[in-house]
Amino acid sequence: MEQGAFNGKRVLVTGASRGIGRAAALAFAGQGARVGIHYHTGLDQARDTLRDMAGTGHALLQADVARPEDARRLIAESLDQLEGLDVLVNNAGIFRAHPIDELDYAAWQQAWADTLGINLLGPANLCYLAARHMMEKGCGHIVNVSSRGAFRGEPQQPAYGASKAALNALTQSLAQALAPHGISVTAVAPGFVQTDMTERYLSGPEGEAIRAQSPLGRVATPEEVAHAILFLASEEAFFATGAILDVNGASYLRT
Ligand code: NAD
Repeated sequence: MEQGAFNGKRVLVTGASRGIGRAAALAFAGQGARVGIHYHTGLDQARDTLRDMAGTGHALLQADVARPEDARRLIAESLDQLEGLDVLVNNAGIFRAHPIDELDYAAWQQAWADTLGINLLGPANLCYLAARHMMEKGCGHIVNVSSRGAFRGEPQQPAYGASKAALNALTQSLAQALAPHGISVTAVAPGFVQTDMTERYLSGPEGEAIRAQSPLGRVATPEEVAHAILFLASEEAFFATGAILDVNGASYLRT
């Protein structure tokens, strides 16, 4: 990617206080973008992200993406503080175990409501709100952070797998709906990535088996996923709209 590829672009990254979101925020800033660093509860970590970022004009933005009014405020504050919005990255998400053979019915329902609220309805609302602005300008990019689990299954986290499969379907439907408005909509589908979300799995007894899922013998770094996000958000990749880009080290090959 050409140096300064995102000069003058305004980018909102949800869940940018840590993990993949933090890596994406740093990468966009490194390419000249002004970045909205969204966080939920991790203000101190979000400040760390901001401190480590190149350039100026970035903003710290708090919201619970599962709350529709928070989503509305998040996009309004992004437009205000970044003076526009060119790229939305829906990265915030949760990955919580809720095995069907262990939970009672109430806990099962709660797991589904929480997971779909954060991983699917939040991104759907943010897509709506960002797209309404982008449609007025006639251009924009939306990148959703999905997962290999949408295709491979998540036996211990079925709502997570379902939320990411639905996010892929949302991505493809909106790619068709928004192409006439000059807006691309894409997704990245990582396998395991070394972040706080997966730390307890990767450092536990199953860590070796997880790394062995890839013939590379390791999991992804957040920076590798960020690189794919920047590619999909670039002007040169516009014709990839509707794509779901695997970043899983050949650990799962779908046809
Ligand atoms: P992470 O736990 O470090 O980051 C998730 C972020 O989402 C956090 O910043 C958290 O504050 C935010 N978040 C959670 N609930 C929220 C809410 N209600 N409102 C607003 N923000 C909220 O994990 P990560 O690995 O960096 O995950 C980022 C994305 O990548 C997620 O969508 C995840 O599903 C996806 N992903 C991760 C992996 C992996 O192995 N780590 C694999 C595939 C996909």
